[in-house]
Amino acid sequence: MVAEFDVAIIGLGAMGSAAASIAASRGAKVLGIEAHFPAHALSSSHGDSRIIRLGYFEDPSYVPLLRRAYENWRALETRLRADVLSVTGVLQIGRPDSKIVSGTQAACALHGLPHEVLDRAEMARRYPAFALDRDEVAVLDPQGGYIRPEAAIMGYLKLAAEDGAELHFGERVVAIDPEADGVTVRSATGRYRARKAIIATGAWIAELVPELVPYAKPIRQVVAWYQPDDGFLAQPGRMPCFLRDEGDNGSFFGFPAIGVDGVKIGRHAHFREPIDPTKPNAPVNDADTDLLDGFAQKRLPQVTSHRVRATTCRYTMLPAEDFLIDFAPGNSNVVISSACSGHGFKFASVVGEILADLVLLGGSELPSSLFSFARNARDG
Ligand SMILES: Cc1cc2nc3c(=O)[nH]c(=O)nc-3n(C[C@H](O)[C@H](O)[C@H](O)COP(=O)(O)OP(=O)(O)OC[C@H]3O[C@@H](n4cnc5c(N)ncnc54)[C@H](O)[C@@H]3O)c2cc1C
Repeated sequence: MVAEFDVAIIGLGAMGSAAASIAASRGAKVLGIEAHFPAHALSSSHGDSRIIRLGYFEDPSYVPLLRRAYENWRALETRLRADVLSVTGVLQIGRPDSKIVSGTQAACALHGLPHEVLDRAEMARRYPAFALDRDEVAVLDPQGGYIRPEAAIMGYLKLAAEDGAELHFGERVVAIDPEADGVTVRSATGRYRARKAIIATGAWIAELVPELVPYAKPIRQVVAWYQPDDGFLAQPGRMPCFLRDEGDNGSFFGFPAIGVDGVKIGRHAHFREPIDPTKPNAPVNDADTDLLDGFAQKRLPQVTSHRVRATTCRYTMLPAEDFLIDFAPGNSNVVISSACSGHGFKFASVVGEILADLVLLGGSELPSSLFSFARNARDG
């Protein structure tokens, strides 16, 4: 006999785990299927930390969603009785006319968000870990901080299971067959009927959504951790999370010493190196570490004495570098969540809510029109 569900969720990473928990908490009979295990090393959701911030330089229209994301992260923590989101502040550093600095100020102004603009002297006094050029400033978003991705995903899955979801790990979905009143989900070992399905398969999204082959491009990402000689300067109280504009050299991000490995650094989109998601990531090489070591020595010299670890990860980029959260073309029983162009984790708690709304209510009151298929699955 084929098992029957209200919602089948394919992929239990950041977005799928949140959707599973939120849908199950509303009483839906949920099946979650994950090819590997949660937050595994080939996914986009491992590596200890993800930045969250409110003054969104990319586009101020994300701010209402971010407010909701904060509420939902706090609700997750309340139910788990554990910390998932820590506020350290986020510094957005660059020349005053850089997109990171000017865009953050514009989003803060439009939405009345508290923020401070710090010059080089004030930065040296308050946050001595950072080396600024003479003409650079930092915009401090005091509500920014970081989320622990592994804890968030495991937490959502724990709550989903408590609310009755059936969760399968180590099971790869190979097809979702449309039916008149739902879908049949097929894996190598099972067949399941569901009224609705959510595809949240990250870097592998185009395998189940072939319309996205030309648009959803997985790329390789690398991050590295450094031990400071002066551990005091790298503590979260003395060193907020940061984003830094480096002009033609792109933008970098990083975290204070929040775990045993120390200060973590990466460059957004790294070398924009396309990858085949079915193959293991190429190991970290000298070009990767030269890039990150060079940045560390120039911009954070006091807190990056020794590199202790580096690892690979995956972004999945869409042409406009936004998200895609919408019904599948021509099938109102299937909803797609893209892996969010390298800036999606902070939104997972609200994306999960939007996904649950779409499959359980047929629409969402949350502002998600930015994420339509028509807007994001087209040439940039
Ligand atoms: C190094 C790095 C740093 C980042 N920093 C930030 C940051 O600071 N702030 C921020 O907001 N965002 C950040 N991001 C982006 C963010 O982490 C991603 O947007 C987010 O993790 C994507 O989540 P996802 O659920 O779409 O994908 P994933 O978490 O990768 O989940 C997809 C899951 O689907 C499973 N799957 C795939 N195919 C199948 C199948 N056929 N059947 C069953 N299961 C399947 C996979 O095994 C995987 O577990 C960063 C990303 C990286 C890599």
